[in-house]
Amino acid sequence: MKRLLLFLILGWLFGGVQAQTDLETMMATRGEYFFSLPLQQREEAERLTRLCSIDKLEGNHLICYANEEQYHQLLAMGYQPMLLMPPSMQEHYAMWDGTNREAYDWDAYPTYEAYQDMMKQYASDYPERCTYFELGTLASGRKLMFCRFNNGEPDGKPKFLYTSTIHGDELTGMMLMLRLIDELCTSDDPRIMALLDHLDIFISPCTNPDGTYHGGNNTVYGARRNNANDADLNRNYPDFDNGPHPDGKEYQPETLMMMELAEQYPFTMAANYHGGSEVLNYPWDTYQPLHPDDEWWQLVCHEYADLTHEHDTMYMSGFDNGIVNGYVWYPIYGSRQDYMNYYQQCREVTIECSIPYTPNPSTMPMYWTYNHESMLRYLEQCLYGIHGRVTDSVTGAPLEAEVTILTHDHHGSAVSSHLPVGDYHRPIKGGTYEVTYSCEGYYPKTLTLTVADWETLVQDVQLVPEGYGVEEGGPSTGSGTALMVYPNPTNGILFVQTLRATSLPDQMYRITNLIGQTLLTGQIMAENQQINVSSLPQGMYFITFAGETRKFVVR
Ligand SMILES: [Zn+2]
Repeated sequence: MKRLLLFLILGWLFGGVQAQTDLETMMATRGEYFFSLPLQQREEAERLTRLCSIDKLEGNHLICYANEEQYHQLLAMGYQPMLLMPPSMQEHYAMWDGTNREAYDWDAYPTYEAYQDMMKQYASDYPERCTYFELGTLASGRKLMFCRFNNGEPDGKPKFLYTSTIHGDELTGMMLMLRLIDELCTSDDPRIMALLDHLDIFISPCTNPDGTYHGGNNTVYGARRNNANDADLNRNYPDFDNGPHPDGKEYQPETLMMMELAEQYPFTMAANYHGGSEVLNYPWDTYQPLHPDDEWWQLVCHEYADLTHEHDTMYMSGFDNGIVNGYVWYPIYGSRQDYMNYYQQCREVTIECSIPYTPNPSTMPMYWTYNHESMLRYLEQCLYGIHGRVTDSVTGAPLEAEVTILTHDHHGSAVSSHLPVGDYHRPIKGGTYEVTYSCEGYYPKTLTLTVADWETLVQDVQLVPEGYGVEEGGPSTGSGTALMVYPNPTNGILFVQTLRATSLPDQMYRITNLIGQTLLTGQIMAENQQINVSSLPQGMYFITFAGETRKFVVR
């Protein structure tokens, strides 16, 4: 009996070892390893995130991917990864090859050709709503494909980006994106029509097609996380805290294409869909300090997760009821989310939309039901906050101005206005903010603005060209007569004349220097008032009162 037990134990042990060896051989062929590692201390995650791709933290185990080089480095350092069957190889799924489109029920993954045909077909079937473009072609010949929606009038609208499957084996989001494209093309719901009227929407269902179709264009069996060069594309972006190449790799073709897109189109908001968990992961990924718009992030992420609970209370219910700060979960360096937020003034969130990476496609209609309303609401959030156009007060020309929330914006959270029409879009948590509009060659202007959650405030702003209407020695009046300061230059006393002083609730003035530091503040109590500026060193200054800003010089 004892001997039998020993035999069984040895058999189980060697069987396990054999299984690990088999997995290792198979994964070496694939060039990608999938495994778990025990995690004793959080500091370990900070070290490991530089050595391989941590995908999630489950209990006290990290679930990770590694390429050949990373895997052998881990072994050399003494780690003992427990290899797991890759998510895309646990089951064979029947693919949809694009035939009999009318009967397609969104419950099979499309072959690469069927996917490409679908994307093009939407643009040709609904040309008044949808345009198709290819961001670029990879060495494999596969393309990064986009559908774009703006009713033919992109100018002046907030730009919105929905993408998925930067990790090639995380397929749920790809199906959500395709189905959203279908809805935007075919629905006559007034809500959809409003989105088409007011937004410029870009959607790319699969931003790592070489990963998704690693097993060939006719299957997602064997799909990989990494691209064809063994790079994790969501670790491949410049990182404001860790430098330009946090993964030690060159920017990959897919990364360069996406960075070019973001340079060309100033996106206001974005989401990038992943799989493996069910949670909204909001900035930052790379370090601990909170994003300046942390409250807004929590609001919109909770809105997304809460709406899914109307269909299934267990879906997206982990973490803080379905949302988590990226760094608090586990740090990653070089994520697209951080890149878009920090470098591109775009509010991008990472949405993990199914616990299985490569779920049975028969469950796709269920995930659509769970996410559909949330996806529309997240799109609609792009319309809330502070919006408007910044123009030259004299010529009316649109300006590229900085729109900065004072004592709030940092780390790329300020937005800009953009040509060709000078529009800016600033999603923000409800509140009262001092917003400064500044543009080289113009007097800056600061306004006190109040906006509520789920509310849109339109604030157009005219900036006065520097020197306009100002003669040396004459009064600085800007475009209106509400605020006049003289003499200019002054050598000690600044006379301030305003017509509105007595009727304004907030009578604070503020004097700032060229880099925006506040040097003097006080109250304007009368229509004509003297301000002693003799404490200021020689130089150029701005005085702001009641939303008007004037330049003056101290000699
Ligand atoms: Zn992912």
